[in-house]
Amino acid sequence: MIQVKGLNKWFGEHHVLRDIDLDVARGEVVVVVGPSGSGKSTLCRCLNRLEPAGSGDILVDGVPAPVEGRELARLRADVGMVFQSFNLFQHKTVLENIVLAPMKVRGESRAEAEASARELLARVGIAEQAGKLPAQLSGGQQQRAAIARALAMRPKVMLFDEPTSALDPEMVGEVLDVMVRLAADGMTMVVVTHEMGFARRAADRVVFMDAGQIVETGEPGAFFEAPRTDRARDFLAKVL
Ligand code: ATP
Ligand code: MG
Repeated sequence: MIQVKGLNKWFGEHHVLRDIDLDVARGEVVVVVGPSGSGKSTLCRCLNRLEPAGSGDILVDGVPAPVEGRELARLRADVGMVFQSFNLFQHKTVLENIVLAPMKVRGESRAEAEASARELLARVGIAEQAGKLPAQLSGGQQQRAAIARALAMRPKVMLFDEPTSALDPEMVGEVLDVMVRLAADGMTMVVVTHEMGFARRAADRVVFMDAGQIVETGEPGAFFEAPRTDRARDFLAKVL
């Protein structure tokens, strides 16, 4: 579903992604872990072209990820993204947040868009919040609204960049539960997270990054029980 070949990225002189090769199969859940500054967010942002790549190839569904124009809008629809900070439009209701892009980009009628938005809100457990403004919701509810908003574009892949890091601890579970169900329903997902419990529960594969490189990748059982590299062992000793 996603193929990354020889991806490099520089910020000025700073080489932040180094020869990244990564294949994510349809329906696969890949959890990306690694120390702060290792390049996890930059990798995610390169995947949907929020950040231009320095060199290398990114294919989505076998097609090179476009960098501009109408095709780029299509890519952003196909590759949904959920951020740490929710990024909802604050002056619009939850329902309005969700229907805007499907109407504008996918050309759905308001009736169609609203019907599917209400279904999605029910699916993430906040059907009764549709008419509220984001500020009237808890953090966990806002993040679930952000997930529903991404899903409204009917993406082929969902990227999550630390979706629970900004939440109070008691709200982390409700967001992770939505993500676990999404994974079980067969969504292809790339998830950057420090929630190792989620990785164990939902990941097909864990990718460990350090200093801009993929240092190690493996099934969660193997990665957590028997990391192969010193760098992964050091990292796990700090976070587990
Ligand atoms: P964290 O766990 O803290 O979120 P991360 O693994 O997501 O870290 P990135 O945010 O991808 O790391 O950053 C990788 C490196 O690139 C870091 O050294 C960071 O300082 C640098 N960097 C990220 N964004 C920019 C930018 N817009 N301009 C310059 N340098 C940047
Ligand atoms: Mg990050």
